[in-house]
Amino acid sequence: STADPYVGRFAPTPSGYLHFGSLVAALASFLDARSVNGRWLLRMEDLDPPREMPGAQTSILDALQAYGFEWDGPLIRQSERHERYQAVIDKLLADGHAYACTCSRKQLEAYPGAYPGFCRDAGKPAKDAAIRIRVQANEFGFTDRVQGPFSQQLAQDVGDFVIRRRDGLYAYQLAVVLDDGWQGVTDVVRGADLLDSTPRQLFLQQLLGLPQPRYLHVPLIVQPDGHKLGKSYRSPPLQAHEAPPLLLRALRALGQRPPMELTGATPQEILAWATAHWDAGAIPRSPTLAEAQLS
Ligand code: GLU
Ligand code: ZN
Repeated sequence: STADPYVGRFAPTPSGYLHFGSLVAALASFLDARSVNGRWLLRMEDLDPPREMPGAQTSILDALQAYGFEWDGPLIRQSERHERYQAVIDKLLADGHAYACTCSRKQLEAYPGAYPGFCRDAGKPAKDAAIRIRVQANEFGFTDRVQGPFSQQLAQDVGDFVIRRRDGLYAYQLAVVLDDGWQGVTDVVRGADLLDSTPRQLFLQQLLGLPQPRYLHVPLIVQPDGHKLGKSYRSPPLQAHEAPPLLLRALRALGQRPPMELTGATPQEILAWATAHWDAGAIPRSPTLAEAQLS
């Protein structure tokens, strides 16, 4: 075929351990890549040392290995890419696409929606300031492979957003776009909590002349009470000995139908079956209720 070879990735943030919701996202991106003989990359999004949980990186890598995931190429860490992010920010500042903002959290408290643009034309120096990108007034939209059409008016819905925080930390929105572009990622498969980040990322891709990947946002796994299963909510870290049943459960959450015979199979056997039978069209669109937790 003449199509570009598929490049997917999993990009965990080490602010906590992997939990069932992250397993579902990792599994979907892995299977979507491997089912077409694509590459599957691993990137540690360790942009925020103060919020990093000690031991989380090791625990994430151990869990991925215990669950049978093998990635291509070296692990990339965003903490090692600061120079690249800064070079792009310098260029955006020089070109007038970005500007320094010294608004305090307190000053912005009264404006919970889009940033009101106080520093937009103030010409503040970049030192000790946050850096914001000037968004365009048009609509940014795309068609998600599971969620369907999705768009935002960035100017109204988000406003000029931060690409480097005042404390010097680089923003997820910028780093993810630069790294997906640099790593040649063709397909982003991740949790639906990032759906509303995507228009900002499309805008940055366009501004920076990067290709737009395809997107597939998998449904969030929610508790029976509707809470997202995740870092902020009680959700047990993935245990190695639970890999087979949790992989089967994650497959069912993705609308796949693993046969009974896989009960008792190894993680590698389960992943091999799931790769051969992957049906992205069966992924449900709406949040999936977590089945009762293993005790
Ligand atoms: N690092 C992000 C997270 O763990 C995911 C980024 C992405 O997949 O684009 O929520
Ligand atoms: Zn400001």
